[in-house]
Amino acid sequence: MKGRIMDKKDIGSFNYEELKEEIVKMGEKPFRSRQIYEWLHVKLADDFGGMTNLPKQFRERLKEEYEIAGIKMIERQISKEDPTEKFLFGLTDGNMIESVLMRYTYGNSVCISSQAGCRMGCRFCASAIGGLKRNLTVSEMLGQVYSIQKLAGERISNIVVMGTGEPLDNYDNFVKFVRMVSDEHGLNISQRNITASTCGIVPNMRRLAEEGLQITLALSLHGANQEKRARLMPVARQYELTDVLAECDHYFQTTGRRITFEYSLVEGVNDQPDDIRELTDILKKRNCHLNLIPVNPVKEREYRKPDRESALAFKNKLEKNGINVTIRRERGSDIDGACGQLRRRYAGETGCKQGETDEDICND
Ligand code: SAH
Repeated sequence: MKGRIMDKKDIGSFNYEELKEEIVKMGEKPFRSRQIYEWLHVKLADDFGGMTNLPKQFRERLKEEYEIAGIKMIERQISKEDPTEKFLFGLTDGNMIESVLMRYTYGNSVCISSQAGCRMGCRFCASAIGGLKRNLTVSEMLGQVYSIQKLAGERISNIVVMGTGEPLDNYDNFVKFVRMVSDEHGLNISQRNITASTCGIVPNMRRLAEEGLQITLALSLHGANQEKRARLMPVARQYELTDVLAECDHYFQTTGRRITFEYSLVEGVNDQPDDIRELTDILKKRNCHLNLIPVNPVKEREYRKPDRESALAFKNKLEKNGINVTIRRERGSDIDGACGQLRRRYAGETGCKQGETDEDICND
Protein backbone atom coordinates (compact mmCIF):
# COMPACT_ATOMS: atom_id res chain seq x y z
CA MET A 1 0.00 0.00 0.00
CA LYS A 2 1.38 3.35 -1.01
CA GLY A 3 3.05 5.41 1.71
CA ARG A 4 2.26 2.96 4.54
CA ILE A 5 4.56 1.55 7.13
CA MET A 6 2.85 -1.12 9.21
CA ASP A 7 -0.55 0.19 10.30
CA LYS A 8 0.31 3.87 10.29
CA LYS A 9 0.82 5.96 7.18
CA ASP A 10 4.37 6.98 6.32
CA ILE A 11 3.91 10.75 6.35
CA GLY A 12 7.44 11.52 5.12
CA SER A 13 6.81 9.83 1.77
CA PHE A 14 3.98 12.20 0.81
CA ASN A 15 5.01 14.98 -1.52
CA TYR A 16 3.77 18.54 -1.01
CA GLU A 17 0.55 18.05 -2.97
CA GLU A 18 -0.23 14.64 -1.48
CA LEU A 19 0.28 15.95 2.05
CA LYS A 20 -2.12 18.80 1.36
CA GLU A 21 -4.78 16.31 0.22
CA GLU A 22 -4.23 14.20 3.35
CA ILE A 23 -4.56 17.14 5.70
CA VAL A 24 -7.66 18.50 3.96
CA LYS A 25 -9.18 15.00 4.13
CA MET A 26 -8.64 15.18 7.90
CA GLY A 27 -10.81 18.28 7.92
CA GLU A 28 -7.92 20.65 8.60
CA LYS A 29 -7.02 23.90 6.85
CA PRO A 30 -4.61 23.53 3.89
CA PHE A 31 -2.04 25.86 5.51
CA ARG A 32 -1.47 23.20 8.17
CA SER A 33 0.05 20.96 5.52
CA ARG A 34 2.56 23.69 4.69
CA GLN A 35 3.57 23.84 8.33
CA ILE A 36 3.91 20.05 8.61
CA TYR A 37 5.84 19.81 5.36
CA GLU A 38 8.27 22.42 6.67
CA TRP A 39 8.71 20.54 9.95
CA LEU A 40 9.40 17.29 8.11
CA HIS A 41 11.48 18.45 5.18
CA VAL A 42 13.19 21.70 6.25
CA LYS A 43 13.44 21.53 10.02
CA LEU A 44 13.88 17.75 9.72
CA ALA A 45 11.70 16.97 12.73
CA ASP A 46 11.47 13.34 13.76
CA ASP A 47 8.46 13.56 16.05
CA PHE A 48 5.08 15.29 16.01
CA GLY A 49 5.36 16.45 19.61
CA GLY A 50 7.87 19.17 18.73
CA MET A 51 5.69 20.70 15.98
CA THR A 52 4.88 23.57 18.27
CA ASN A 53 2.87 25.70 15.86
CA LEU A 54 0.23 22.96 15.52
CA PRO A 55 -2.59 22.63 18.06
CA LYS A 56 -1.88 19.93 20.63
CA GLN A 57 -4.97 17.93 19.70
CA PHE A 58 -4.02 17.91 16.05
CA ARG A 59 -0.53 16.69 16.94
CA GLU A 60 -2.07 13.85 18.91
CA ARG A 61 -4.22 12.89 15.96
CA LEU A 62 -1.24 12.97 13.62
CA LYS A 63 0.65 10.70 16.01
CA GLU A 64 -2.19 8.19 15.99
CA GLU A 65 -2.54 8.01 12.22
CA TYR A 66 0.93 8.68 10.88
CA GLU A 67 4.47 7.60 11.44
CA ILE A 68 7.63 9.55 10.73
CA ALA A 69 9.57 6.62 9.33
CA GLY A 70 12.65 6.97 11.40
CA ILE A 71 15.92 5.51 10.31
CA LYS A 72 18.14 4.99 13.32
CA MET A 73 21.87 5.36 13.32
CA ILE A 74 23.59 2.16 14.41
CA GLU A 75 27.18 3.05 13.71
CA ARG A 76 29.14 6.10 12.60
CA GLN A 77 32.68 5.66 11.31
CA ILE A 78 34.88 8.70 10.88
CA SER A 79 37.85 8.34 8.55
CA LYS A 80 41.23 9.37 9.85
CA GLU A 81 42.55 9.73 6.30
CA ASP A 82 40.12 12.21 4.78
CA PRO A 83 36.95 14.14 5.65
CA THR A 84 34.69 11.15 5.06
CA GLU A 85 32.20 9.48 7.37
CA LYS A 86 30.23 6.32 6.95
CA PHE A 87 26.86 5.68 8.57
CA LEU A 88 25.00 2.46 9.19
CA PHE A 89 21.26 2.98 9.65
CA GLY A 90 18.64 0.55 10.92
CA LEU A 91 15.18 0.52 9.33
CA THR A 92 11.98 -0.12 11.27
CA ASP A 93 11.81 -3.73 10.02
CA GLY A 94 15.36 -4.56 11.09
CA ASN A 95 17.00 -4.18 7.69
CA MET A 96 20.16 -2.12 7.53
CA ILE A 97 21.50 0.34 4.99
CA GLU A 98 24.61 2.44 4.71
CA SER A 99 25.32 5.96 3.57
CA VAL A 100 28.51 8.00 3.23
CA LEU A 101 29.26 11.67 3.84
CA MET A 102 32.10 13.09 1.75
CA ARG A 103 33.26 16.66 2.30
CA TYR A 104 34.67 18.43 -0.74
CA THR A 105 35.78 22.00 -1.32
CA TYR A 106 32.57 22.57 -3.31
CA GLY A 107 30.32 21.24 -0.55
CA ASN A 108 29.12 18.16 1.29
CA SER A 109 28.04 15.17 -0.71
CA VAL A 110 26.03 12.23 0.60
CA CYS A 111 26.07 8.83 -1.04
CA ILE A 112 22.75 7.11 -0.36
CA SER A 113 21.35 3.61 -0.78
CA SER A 114 18.21 3.05 -2.83
CA GLN A 115 17.45 -0.54 -1.77
CA ALA A 116 18.22 -2.83 1.16
CA GLY A 117 20.44 -5.25 -0.72
CA CYS A 118 20.46 -5.58 -4.49
CA ARG A 119 19.42 -8.19 -7.03
CA MET A 120 21.71 -7.18 -9.88
CA GLY A 121 24.47 -9.56 -8.87
CA CYS A 122 27.54 -7.61 -10.09
CA ARG A 123 30.46 -9.91 -9.41
CA PHE A 124 32.74 -7.49 -7.56
CA CYS A 125 30.10 -5.76 -5.47
CA ALA A 126 29.58 -6.45 -1.76
CA SER A 127 25.96 -5.25 -1.92
CA ALA A 128 25.06 -8.07 -4.28
CA ILE A 129 26.10 -10.86 -1.94
CA GLY A 130 22.96 -11.22 0.18
CA GLY A 131 20.53 -10.44 -2.64
CA LEU A 132 17.69 -7.96 -2.46
CA LYS A 133 15.81 -7.58 0.80
CA ARG A 134 13.43 -4.82 -0.28
CA ASN A 135 13.03 -1.44 -1.92
CA LEU A 136 13.55 1.62 0.25
CA THR A 137 10.59 3.95 0.71
CA VAL A 138 10.90 7.59 -0.32
CA SER A 139 11.15 8.63 3.32
CA GLU A 140 13.97 6.15 3.94
CA MET A 141 15.94 7.65 1.06
CA LEU A 142 15.23 11.19 2.25
CA GLY A 143 15.98 10.08 5.81
CA GLN A 144 19.58 9.26 4.93
CA VAL A 145 20.19 12.82 3.72
CA TYR A 146 18.25 14.37 6.61
CA SER A 147 19.90 12.26 9.31
CA ILE A 148 23.40 12.96 8.04
CA GLN A 149 22.70 16.69 7.73
CA LYS A 150 21.51 16.68 11.35
CA LEU A 151 24.23 14.41 12.73
CA ALA A 152 27.02 16.31 11.01
CA GLY A 153 25.40 19.68 11.64
CA GLU A 154 26.38 20.71 8.13
CA ARG A 155 24.35 21.45 5.02
CA ILE A 156 24.28 18.80 2.34
CA SER A 157 24.59 20.25 -1.16
CA ASN A 158 25.17 17.18 -3.33
CA ILE A 159 23.74 13.69 -3.53
CA VAL A 160 25.00 10.60 -5.29
CA VAL A 161 22.71 7.59 -5.47
CA MET A 162 25.58 5.14 -5.53
CA GLY A 163 25.16 3.21 -2.32
CA THR A 164 23.55 -0.20 -2.06
CA GLY A 165 20.85 -0.97 -4.60
CA GLU A 166 19.84 -0.14 -8.14
CA PRO A 167 17.83 3.10 -8.22
CA LEU A 168 16.15 2.21 -11.52
CA ASP A 169 14.95 -1.06 -9.94
CA ASN A 170 13.08 1.08 -7.38
CA TYR A 171 12.01 3.52 -10.04
CA ASP A 172 8.92 5.29 -8.68
CA ASN A 173 10.33 5.83 -5.19
CA PHE A 174 13.66 6.97 -6.61
CA VAL A 175 12.09 9.56 -8.94
CA LYS A 176 9.82 10.82 -6.16
CA PHE A 177 12.84 11.10 -3.87
CA VAL A 178 14.65 13.25 -6.46
CA ARG A 179 11.61 15.52 -6.86
CA MET A 180 11.12 15.91 -3.10
CA VAL A 181 14.74 16.49 -2.15
CA SER A 182 14.99 19.16 -4.86
CA ASP A 183 11.59 20.69 -4.04
CA GLU A 184 11.68 24.36 -3.04
CA HIS A 185 9.43 23.48 -0.10
CA GLY A 186 12.02 20.98 1.15
CA LEU A 187 15.83 20.92 1.24
CA ASN A 188 15.84 22.41 -2.26
CA ILE A 189 19.01 20.63 -3.38
CA SER A 190 19.65 21.43 -7.03
CA GLN A 191 18.93 18.53 -9.36
CA ARG A 192 22.17 19.39 -11.11
CA ASN A 193 23.93 18.38 -7.90
CA ILE A 194 22.34 14.92 -7.92
CA THR A 195 23.90 11.93 -9.68
CA ALA A 196 22.32 8.51 -9.94
CA SER A 197 24.24 5.46 -11.01
CA THR A 198 22.61 2.62 -12.92
CA CYS A 199 23.74 -0.76 -14.14
CA GLY A 200 21.72 -0.06 -17.30
CA ILE A 201 18.04 -0.98 -16.96
CA VAL A 202 17.15 0.11 -20.49
CA PRO A 203 13.37 0.71 -20.26
CA ASN A 204 13.73 2.73 -17.08
CA MET A 205 16.61 4.76 -18.51
CA ARG A 206 14.14 5.75 -21.23
CA ARG A 207 11.47 6.67 -18.69
CA LEU A 208 13.98 8.68 -16.68
CA ALA A 209 15.02 10.66 -19.74
CA GLU A 210 11.39 11.70 -20.21
CA GLU A 211 10.83 12.82 -16.58
CA GLY A 212 12.11 16.34 -17.18
CA LEU A 213 14.73 16.06 -14.46
CA GLN A 214 18.16 17.66 -14.55
CA ILE A 215 20.12 14.98 -12.71
CA THR A 216 23.32 13.40 -13.99
CA LEU A 217 23.12 9.78 -15.01
CA ALA A 218 26.13 7.56 -14.38
CA LEU A 219 26.27 4.30 -16.27
CA SER A 220 28.18 1.36 -14.85
CA LEU A 221 30.10 0.11 -17.87
CA HIS A 222 32.86 -2.08 -16.40
CA GLY A 223 33.38 -4.01 -19.63
CA ALA A 224 33.94 -2.50 -23.08
CA ASN A 225 32.28 -5.29 -25.03
CA GLN A 226 29.10 -7.25 -24.49
CA GLU A 227 30.79 -10.48 -23.53
CA LYS A 228 33.17 -8.97 -20.99
CA ARG A 229 30.52 -6.75 -19.46
CA ALA A 230 28.15 -9.68 -19.05
CA ARG A 231 30.82 -11.65 -17.24
CA LEU A 232 31.15 -8.96 -14.57
CA MET A 233 27.53 -7.80 -14.63
CA PRO A 234 24.91 -10.49 -15.13
CA VAL A 235 22.26 -7.83 -15.80
CA ALA A 236 24.05 -7.14 -19.08
CA ARG A 237 22.65 -10.40 -20.42
CA GLN A 238 19.23 -8.87 -20.22
CA TYR A 239 20.17 -5.41 -21.51
CA GLU A 240 22.82 -5.56 -24.19
CA LEU A 241 25.63 -3.05 -24.39
CA THR A 242 24.54 -1.55 -27.74
CA ASP A 243 21.04 -0.90 -26.36
CA VAL A 244 22.39 0.55 -23.12
CA LEU A 245 24.69 2.90 -25.05
CA ALA A 246 21.83 3.97 -27.33
CA GLU A 247 19.83 4.78 -24.21
CA CYS A 248 22.73 6.84 -22.83
CA ASP A 249 22.75 8.82 -26.09
CA HIS A 250 19.02 9.35 -25.81
CA TYR A 251 19.39 10.55 -22.20
CA PHE A 252 22.02 13.08 -23.28
CA GLN A 253 20.00 14.27 -26.27
CA THR A 254 16.84 14.65 -24.20
CA THR A 255 18.23 16.21 -21.03
CA GLY A 256 21.44 17.86 -22.24
CA ARG A 257 23.15 16.20 -19.27
CA ARG A 258 26.47 14.56 -20.10
CA ILE A 259 26.69 10.90 -19.12
CA THR A 260 29.35 9.72 -16.69
CA PHE A 261 30.61 6.23 -17.39
CA GLU A 262 31.93 4.23 -14.46
CA TYR A 263 34.53 1.56 -14.95
CA SER A 264 35.76 -0.50 -12.03
CA LEU A 265 39.29 -1.53 -12.89
CA VAL A 266 39.89 -5.19 -12.11
CA GLU A 267 43.41 -6.51 -12.43
CA GLY A 268 43.85 -8.93 -15.31
CA VAL A 269 40.14 -8.78 -16.17
CA ASN A 270 39.37 -5.43 -17.79
CA ASP A 271 42.66 -3.48 -17.64
CA GLN A 272 44.33 -4.83 -20.78
CA PRO A 273 45.39 -3.08 -24.04
CA ASP A 274 42.32 -4.51 -25.80
CA ASP A 275 40.12 -2.88 -23.19
CA ILE A 276 41.72 0.50 -23.86
CA ARG A 277 41.07 0.09 -27.57
CA GLU A 278 37.46 -0.93 -27.12
CA LEU A 279 36.77 1.72 -24.49
CA THR A 280 38.18 4.36 -26.83
CA ASP A 281 35.93 3.15 -29.65
CA ILE A 282 32.89 3.46 -27.44
CA LEU A 283 33.67 6.75 -25.74
CA LYS A 284 35.54 8.90 -28.24
CA LYS A 285 32.44 9.68 -30.28
CA ARG A 286 30.43 10.60 -27.19
CA ASN A 287 30.33 13.78 -25.11
CA CYS A 288 30.93 12.05 -21.80
CA HIS A 289 33.17 11.51 -18.85
CA LEU A 290 34.84 8.30 -17.75
CA ASN A 291 35.44 7.59 -14.07
CA LEU A 292 37.87 4.77 -13.33
CA ILE A 293 37.37 3.07 -9.96
CA PRO A 294 40.22 0.74 -8.98
CA VAL A 295 38.10 -2.13 -7.69
CA ASN A 296 37.67 -2.20 -3.93
CA PRO A 297 38.55 -5.68 -2.84
CA VAL A 298 35.58 -7.39 -1.17
CA LYS A 299 36.52 -10.20 1.16
CA GLU A 300 34.02 -12.66 -0.32
CA ARG A 301 35.40 -12.08 -3.85
CA GLU A 302 38.75 -12.78 -5.44
CA TYR A 303 39.03 -9.62 -7.58
CA ARG A 304 42.07 -7.41 -7.13
CA LYS A 305 42.73 -3.81 -8.10
CA PRO A 306 45.64 -2.94 -10.38
CA ASP A 307 48.47 -1.10 -8.64
CA ARG A 308 48.54 2.70 -8.75
CA GLU A 309 51.03 2.83 -11.64
CA SER A 310 49.08 0.49 -13.90
CA ALA A 311 45.87 2.38 -13.19
CA LEU A 312 47.62 5.65 -14.05
CA ALA A 313 49.05 4.15 -17.24
CA PHE A 314 45.56 2.94 -18.21
CA LYS A 315 44.18 6.42 -17.64
CA ASN A 316 47.00 8.15 -19.51
CA LYS A 317 46.56 5.96 -22.59
CA LEU A 318 42.86 6.73 -22.67
CA GLU A 319 43.61 10.42 -22.27
CA LYS A 320 46.01 10.27 -25.21
CA ASN A 321 43.16 8.77 -27.20
CA GLY A 322 41.10 11.86 -26.43
CA ILE A 323 38.95 10.45 -23.65
CA ASN A 324 37.87 12.69 -20.80
CA VAL A 325 38.89 10.48 -17.88
CA THR A 326 39.61 10.60 -14.15
CA ILE A 327 40.53 8.03 -11.54
CA ARG A 328 38.09 8.18 -8.66
CA ARG A 329 39.83 9.41 -5.56
CA GLU A 330 39.70 6.74 -2.93
CA ARG A 331 37.79 7.93 0.10
CA GLY A 332 37.52 6.48 3.56
CA SER A 333 39.36 3.29 2.71
CA ASP A 334 40.07 2.85 6.43
CA ILE A 335 36.33 2.70 7.20
CA ASP A 336 34.83 -0.25 5.33
CA GLY A 337 35.19 1.89 2.20
CA ALA A 338 33.79 -0.37 -0.51
CA CYS A 339 30.09 -0.24 -1.26
CA GLY A 340 28.11 -2.41 1.10
CA GLN A 341 31.01 -3.57 3.26
CA LEU A 342 29.89 -2.00 6.52
CA ARG A 343 26.42 -3.47 6.05
CA ARG A 344 27.93 -6.85 5.15
CA ARG A 345 30.00 -6.89 8.29
CA TYR A 346 26.87 -6.38 10.38
CA ALA A 347 24.86 -8.89 8.36
CA GLY A 348 27.56 -11.42 9.16
CA GLU A 349 27.60 -10.58 12.84
CA THR A 350 23.84 -10.69 13.19
CA GLY A 351 23.66 -14.04 11.49
CA CYS A 352 21.90 -13.09 8.24
CA LYS A 353 22.33 -15.87 5.75
CA GLN A 354 24.47 -15.28 2.72
CA GLY A 355 23.28 -16.20 -0.72
CA GLU A 356 19.62 -15.41 -0.19
CA THR A 357 19.32 -14.60 -3.82
CA ASP A 358 15.89 -15.90 -4.68
CA GLU A 359 14.92 -12.48 -5.94
CA ASP A 360 17.98 -12.08 -8.12
CA ILE A 361 16.98 -11.57 -11.69
CA CYS A 362 20.51 -12.03 -12.83
CA ASN A 363 21.96 -15.07 -11.16
CA ASP A 364 23.29 -17.63 -13.53
N1 SAH B 1 23.27 -0.11 -8.94
C1 SAH B 1 23.99 1.07 -9.32
C2 SAH B 1 24.78 1.68 -8.15
C3 SAH B 1 25.88 0.81 -7.70
S1 SAH B 1 27.18 1.46 -6.69
C4 SAH B 1 24.93 0.73 -10.46
O1 SAH B 1 25.11 -0.43 -10.78
O2 SAH B 1 25.49 1.63 -11.05
C5 SAH B 1 28.04 2.62 -7.63
C6 SAH B 1 29.22 2.13 -8.46
O3 SAH B 1 30.19 1.41 -7.68
C7 SAH B 1 28.81 1.18 -9.59
O4 SAH B 1 29.48 1.56 -10.75
C8 SAH B 1 29.29 -0.15 -9.07
O5 SAH B 1 29.46 -1.05 -10.11
C9 SAH B 1 30.57 0.26 -8.38
N2 SAH B 1 31.08 -0.74 -7.43
C10 SAH B 1 30.41 -1.61 -6.67
N3 SAH B 1 31.24 -2.37 -5.92
C11 SAH B 1 32.48 -1.96 -6.22
C12 SAH B 1 33.78 -2.37 -5.78
N4 SAH B 1 33.94 -3.34 -4.90
N5 SAH B 1 34.84 -1.73 -6.31
C13 SAH B 1 34.67 -0.72 -7.20
N6 SAH B 1 33.49 -0.31 -7.66
C14 SAH B 1 32.39 -0.92 -7.18
